[in-house]
Amino acid sequence: MVSSNKKKLIWALWLLVFPTGLWLTYRMYPPQISFDIVDILLFLCLAFFVAATPMVINGAPIFLLQWVSWAVFLTFGLFIELVIAQLTLAVLFIRIRLSKEQFYRIPLNSIMFFLVSLLSGGIFYYIVGDTGASFYEEGLSLWLYVIYPVLSYFFNHLFIAVINYSIYKGKREVFGKDFVWETITTFMSLPIGLVLYILHKEVGFLAVIFVSVPFASLSITLNLYSASKNINELLQKATDIGHQLAERLNMDEVLDLFIQKLTEMLPVDYAYILDIVDNEELHLIRQVEKGERKSFNIQPLKKSEGISGQVWEQKKSALYSSEKEWKHIVKGYMPENVESVLSVPIVRNSQVTGVLLLASTQKRSYKKSQLMIVDILCSHFAIAIENARNYEKTKALSERCALTSLYNYRYFENVLFSEFESLKNQEKESLSLIILDIDHFKSINDTYGHQSGNEILRQLATELMSIIDHTGTVARYGGEEFVILLPNIEKEEALTTAELIRRLIANHLFTLDQHIGPKELTRQVQITVSIGVATALQDADNPLTLIRHADRALYVGAKRAGRNRVAEYVK
Ligand code: GH3
Ligand code: MG
Ligand code: MG
Repeated sequence: MVSSNKKKLIWALWLLVFPTGLWLTYRMYPPQISFDIVDILLFLCLAFFVAATPMVINGAPIFLLQWVSWAVFLTFGLFIELVIAQLTLAVLFIRIRLSKEQFYRIPLNSIMFFLVSLLSGGIFYYIVGDTGASFYEEGLSLWLYVIYPVLSYFFNHLFIAVINYSIYKGKREVFGKDFVWETITTFMSLPIGLVLYILHKEVGFLAVIFVSVPFASLSITLNLYSASKNINELLQKATDIGHQLAERLNMDEVLDLFIQKLTEMLPVDYAYILDIVDNEELHLIRQVEKGERKSFNIQPLKKSEGISGQVWEQKKSALYSSEKEWKHIVKGYMPENVESVLSVPIVRNSQVTGVLLLASTQKRSYKKSQLMIVDILCSHFAIAIENARNYEKTKALSERCALTSLYNYRYFENVLFSEFESLKNQEKESLSLIILDIDHFKSINDTYGHQSGNEILRQLATELMSIIDHTGTVARYGGEEFVILLPNIEKEEALTTAELIRRLIANHLFTLDQHIGPKELTRQVQITVSIGVATALQDADNPLTLIRHADRALYVGAKRAGRNRVAEYVK
């Protein structure tokens, strides 16, 4: 940011330098009035045309004005060149569309253009002598002509570097990729300037038309070249990102990577990913604001509601350059000071599965040309997110018992081993294991049927889950046996928990719906359980021994002693 004091200084400097400088130049190097005013106007039109049709290289406009200034200078002299350059500057700024905060760039560039013209022209006059008719007719060496554009290119970049250093504190890149492009294209276009000058001497104003054609074709060719090069680079990038997304199997990782990559490629202050749930509502599944993950409670949107709802309904991207374009559409949440908005449907198998919404606080942040790339990224994202979801679903299925939804033994064993590891590393102080077996379950099956047995197992699982909650891991050990792993729980506390479980279950009424004939019957059944408890490290120094010893407590201490009781492992 340029301080307002600096801006005032720039304006003051302009007022001081520009009018007097212009007047002095007029006095020192008066224009040859022998020229047709129509000729001058034609050159001016050419300069305007060139300024209004910049080449866009790597997204930045390059204004190839030097060849025109050269021809103007050689043809009409320093004063006219100076005036035309200043008028062209006006076109240039209209074309760039400055915001209010950037108005100071007008006097700044005006002074710069002025000094560049003055210095290059002055030095040229000093070395070579007068321009105009006499200069051409004297048949001077062609190489002398080149002094002017070389000087003006040199001074131009000298001033850009000085401005960058003094006003922007070196924050702008002066000699980067754009500089190389600019140098190449400027020197490529220079011969056209010389041709214009010589041709104008021969055929008059027609020269302007003759010369505009090759220039326009050069400009178009370079534009096309740069555009296709750009697209190639973007596609390459999109493919790379696609590969990276495909490697992630975790939902969170896919979401994070996707937003990170978008933020690297586009100006993104706010990013939202919405997921379509039950083909009815859009739910926010990721919210990143100014680089930070947020999680507000935001009302879901229906189809056609708000920007994202419309993108969903129309299956079409939406691009807005300023607030007034989307203000009447938005519904619900939108951060303050947002201007540009880009919203793209996330499509999988020609079905919209979600919506991406990016926003920036600047106007005109997103271009149509960027839409294609965001679209491609969204389709990579749609596949990656589907894979991650499937993976997580399969993983959950492989970890759980289908009947009770409790963890299965395989999963439980992994937890047991890793908990034992942290116990050995002294990250945990103790590890208790409860093993539980339903008493006389065979006869329950025999009495009420296997289906009712299943129902009891299901209800027992729910009951155990609600008792243990987050203090440990409950799993189905097999058949009518369950295990509970309690990290950081001492033997005494584990025995208390076991006793609580035993009592709660003994008092619980298990409800069974029985379909006997046409009648529907509800029965209430009571069961009891026998429980064994062992605690590491006092009862076992490895995971499998801990299970074996808890099991031994169950059979020896509880079952054999008459069932419906809790027993601890004794050596
Ligand atoms: P104990 O008090 O000695 O444990 O007697 P029990 O009848 O519970 O023990 P036993 O090991 O003899 O029988 C276990 C029964 O549990 C046998 C089997 O039919 C039943 N069972 C095991 N898994 C399931 C299941 O998934 N569903 C149903 N309904 N029954 C099961
Ligand atoms: Mg049993
Ligand atoms: Mg059993």
